[in-house]
Amino acid sequence: MNLWFTEHEQETMRMSYKIKETLHKERSKFQDISIVDTYRFGRMMILDDVVQTTEKDEFIYHELMVHMPLFTHPNPEKVLVIGGGDGGCIREVLKHPSVKKAVLVEIDDRVVEVSKQFLPTISQGLDDPRVEVKIEDGINYVKETKNEYDVIIVDSTDPEGFSLTLFSDEFYKAIYSCLKEDGLFVSQTSSPFFRPEFLKETYERIGEIFPKTKLYVGNILTYFGVFSFSMGSKKYSPDDIEEIRNIPMETKFFNKDIYKAAFALPQYVKDIFK
Ligand code: SAM
Repeated sequence: MNLWFTEHEQETMRMSYKIKETLHKERSKFQDISIVDTYRFGRMMILDDVVQTTEKDEFIYHELMVHMPLFTHPNPEKVLVIGGGDGGCIREVLKHPSVKKAVLVEIDDRVVEVSKQFLPTISQGLDDPRVEVKIEDGINYVKETKNEYDVIIVDSTDPEGFSLTLFSDEFYKAIYSCLKEDGLFVSQTSSPFFRPEFLKETYERIGEIFPKTKLYVGNILTYFGVFSFSMGSKKYSPDDIEEIRNIPMETKFFNKDIYKAAFALPQYVKDIFK
């Protein structure tokens, strides 16, 4: 058998993965969900024909999403993840000894269930007693919740369809009030190479609401290379941190050098903001 899955990057580029077999396929209320087993990346979750996470490279994205903000905050106790139904961010959040409670707000319960069934190494934290999973639209949840969280992580699908609201001005204002007075948040802000205008608009939108913003990047193989993450903070800035506290957990990507290096931006990324 010669089976391939092909993802399209807008209209002009494609990336293909040879697959061993399709393990699951369904149409949920929100999106097409599939799990395929690939030769290069192990099991892969695909939503509406876009790769979300794979067993082999997920650690890079999830460690960057979680440890960068959680090591910027001096004592993260209560953490919210919006989106992220695969559970990868929650798994990393739970590695922090200071965390007492983690809430996951995912719009599509089927993403959570499928991940529990087919991606146990990624979803392993979802049944932890410190975790509460809520199935609802992230924007509604943050609008109703005030002054609760130390850190919020927005692990959403790309800015299309029902995830578009998670990049809006209204959403960022609600995130601001949902955070405690010294809270901070991070969101994936897509590829600076393929979507520079989107990154610029979104980062500047965050900067209109949060007094401190910071951009960092990492190479995510299955997201077409370099990927960006935007941080908005009420009080703490990575610029004021000489060296982060000791890292008590096992990591595969994140370390003290990465904390510093991820904020170093290539010139073409800096030029986006000129
Ligand atoms: N890291 C991945 C990426 O960028 O490819 C995203 C992983 S995670 C599976 C994204 C999740 O965000 C999806 O399960 C999707 O259902 C969820 N999501 C999208 N819009 C949402 C919303 N408005 N509220 C809550 N969850 C949302």
